[in-house]
Amino acid sequence: MSAKKFVYFFGNGKAEGDGKDKNLLGGKGAGLAEMTNLGIPVPPGFTITTEACIEYQKKHGYPEGMWEQTLEAMKKLEEAVGKNFGSTENPLLVSVRSGARVSMPGMMDTVLNLGLNDETVKGLAKASGNERFAYDSYRRFIQMFGDVVLGVDHHKFEKVLRKMKQDRNVESDTELNAEDLKQLVAEYKKIVEDETGKPFPQDTTKQLEFAINAVFNSWDNQRAKTYRKLNKIPDDWGTAVNIVAMVFGNMGDDCGTGVAFTRNPSTGEKEFFGEFLINAQGEDVVAGIRTPEPIARLKDEMPEVFAQLEDVYKKLETHYKDMQDIEFTVERKKLYMLQTRSGKRTAKAAVKIAYDMFKEGLIDKKTAVLRVLPEQVDQLLHPMIDPKEKYATIAKGLPASPGAAVGKVVFSAEDAEKMAAAGEKVILVRNETSPEDIGGMHASEGILTATGGMTSHAAVVARGMGKCCVAGCGALKIDEAKKVFTVGDNVVKEGDFITINGSTGEVILGKVTLIEPELSGEFAEILKWADEFRTLGVRTNADTPHDSKIARDFGAEGIGLCRTEHMFFDGDRIDAVREMILAENEEGRRRALEKVKPYQKEDFIGIFKAMDGLPVTIRLLDPPLHEFIPHTDEDIQKVADASGIPFDRLQKKAEELKEFNPMLGHRGCRLGITFPEIYEMQVYAIMEAACKVKKEGVKVLPEIMIPLVGHFKELSILKEMVNRVAEEVMNSYNDKIEYLVGTMIELPRAALTADEIAEYAEFFSFGTNDLTQTTLGLSRDDSGKFLPEYVDKGIYKEDPFVSIDVSGVGQLVELGVTKGRKTRPNLKTGICGEHGGDPESIYFCQKVGLNYVSCSPYRVPVARLAAAHAALKNI
Ligand code: PEP
Ligand code: MG
Repeated sequence: MSAKKFVYFFGNGKAEGDGKDKNLLGGKGAGLAEMTNLGIPVPPGFTITTEACIEYQKKHGYPEGMWEQTLEAMKKLEEAVGKNFGSTENPLLVSVRSGARVSMPGMMDTVLNLGLNDETVKGLAKASGNERFAYDSYRRFIQMFGDVVLGVDHHKFEKVLRKMKQDRNVESDTELNAEDLKQLVAEYKKIVEDETGKPFPQDTTKQLEFAINAVFNSWDNQRAKTYRKLNKIPDDWGTAVNIVAMVFGNMGDDCGTGVAFTRNPSTGEKEFFGEFLINAQGEDVVAGIRTPEPIARLKDEMPEVFAQLEDVYKKLETHYKDMQDIEFTVERKKLYMLQTRSGKRTAKAAVKIAYDMFKEGLIDKKTAVLRVLPEQVDQLLHPMIDPKEKYATIAKGLPASPGAAVGKVVFSAEDAEKMAAAGEKVILVRNETSPEDIGGMHASEGILTATGGMTSHAAVVARGMGKCCVAGCGALKIDEAKKVFTVGDNVVKEGDFITINGSTGEVILGKVTLIEPELSGEFAEILKWADEFRTLGVRTNADTPHDSKIARDFGAEGIGLCRTEHMFFDGDRIDAVREMILAENEEGRRRALEKVKPYQKEDFIGIFKAMDGLPVTIRLLDPPLHEFIPHTDEDIQKVADASGIPFDRLQKKAEELKEFNPMLGHRGCRLGITFPEIYEMQVYAIMEAACKVKKEGVKVLPEIMIPLVGHFKELSILKEMVNRVAEEVMNSYNDKIEYLVGTMIELPRAALTADEIAEYAEFFSFGTNDLTQTTLGLSRDDSGKFLPEYVDKGIYKEDPFVSIDVSGVGQLVELGVTKGRKTRPNLKTGICGEHGGDPESIYFCQKVGLNYVSCSPYRVPVARLAAAHAALKNI
């Protein structure tokens, strides 16, 4: 049986592989093969496959036949370029470079100028007629091979080079002459011998073998492993090895090397963009030893080469139908391409390039939509730290709501409102926020908390408001009374400026320049195209007319969750709410509720109007009552004055209402079961608002949602109440409103008994925040302190409050949908937990057949795009 093919040759206009062989040849190898086949000037060479790397890793040696095939390919290479490897007359030199399936920039190893030794260097000098160039190549080779293959610290070589430049009183290494470089070579060789105990290897075939091993081994170096983990690249992909005949950019002033993008990777503008260095090799550009010149200068310096390069880059872009990131070398005014690949780009550039390429007829609409990554576009919707800024962070918390903000530190919601009213920009810093802080949060530029996770109050509310938030920043020691916080030695007082970055979790002392988001017309257009492909609906979580309007402008198709609790805190109504909670009997509660109802009705009127023609899911009161309890004597006194109940009795009642575990306590529909008058009041307000706006010509589609149902009987009781009240209101208005009654599925028991619950529920909305909390037994408010470590250790791939835990919580969602639809085949299902705005979770929602996702207003564009990706990728 003949050995497996591990080596693929390219050269003389023909390649054994092609661009489709990325998995086998790696991105670089596939690109070189493809360019060769396209007739683009590429130096000849060959690629050792990723399969060989994997086998090498497994058996700690080459797979059978690989080395023989390598030597054969070297022969072929010698013929192709007319030079011999190891020759003392006209030696062939090669580069040995890694190249995985996807680019892992700078993570793995490369050796250039391989094939030089004390004899071949003389041959190179003779053949090129350029001794300086020959010794420049040799000293480069010793350093790279020494560093990459032999493990000699590269600083040792750089130190000697620096000293040489100082001694000769020159700035740049191009000013060193042949004699200087010879001396450097001698010194470099000594460094290698001192460090490794052996002389620098002179056998060129051994050099080749060692370099191949080094590239294979670099797949498993620490930085490559970390990069793979961060970028979710499987460990068993391996890297290919590309061995390519050297072309020389360091032969003189008619030579050079550069990297370029076929369009601007930062703005997306259709302009050739890149850098170039005369008389240099590739590593000089990357290493930043010399400052490269803009590519446009090549046009002045070597117009004919520039024209050639223009031809090539246009050909490559048309062929790949995407923006390319290319590397090239010019040897004596002849252009060689060394690499092409799809270029990395900012969100802004991704949008512009996709839009332009569709308009140019290069790609179709579907491809244009898929070219813009949902994870990336969030950048476009929030202010960001200017990438040109340099700054030091003093602490890092959870990146709870994206964007960045600069402002003066304040420690209470009241102060935030006061200072904002006085025209100051403020950042609210709290241990954690509660619904009471809503006004202050609104007045702030951003929110920073010491505790709490990705679905804590601060995180959820900030995202809803489109404000940046860093949550769970455990390094912060806050003294709210003294109005100061410390992080290590840093002491930050009220009024001091800080900057926070909610996209990364960074906390920075002082002011950092921000740049404003630009919602381009092109982005809006791409979102429209996305809408043509997606099958999932996209709604929003909004509880004010203002947020509803923002979401609608972003393309929301209704409200998937209107949390009513925030309305209870607005303005004066909190006093009436507190009076209701502390009332001693039903009569007292009803009296207080009558005061709240007009406010509620106004809220709903505003939202229905903003969402004219679209469904609005309103959730009845959910959070534990204790969140509304007055904390200060002053607040209790206010309730005493309003209700006539003595202060002491109120204080005692407030004490009684405290719970050990409020999240699992008296909340959700349990409130509706035990205090039906609260939910009744809300249903009156909803239905009266609906009847009223309908009369004004607004199309209303209310969906009344009962939270935290665990048993179908809870829903059956409450549904009966809802229908009774609705009937009564409609009769009194002499009108009919189409409305639905449904439930949240946010407890495991609800998912497990979804068939029973669906007898009563006309829709399900998966509340995956609570469902994650209750399924994982992980407090959404406390887990921020330790969850990052869980993610670091790979226990959870991602924070399960951000991206749905598919194998755990996901099962319950899937079961809930299946069981629910068994009972009620046309059951409408959606998701309204924070996962509704997370692309990975949205793909999951598509897979299990939900009808819609609902997310905060500023995530709506992300969700529209992710839903299109889900549909197009056939997830
Ligand atoms: C949920 O639990 O997923 C949900 C949307 O409700 P809340 O975050 O208000 O508890
Ligand atoms: Mg919930």
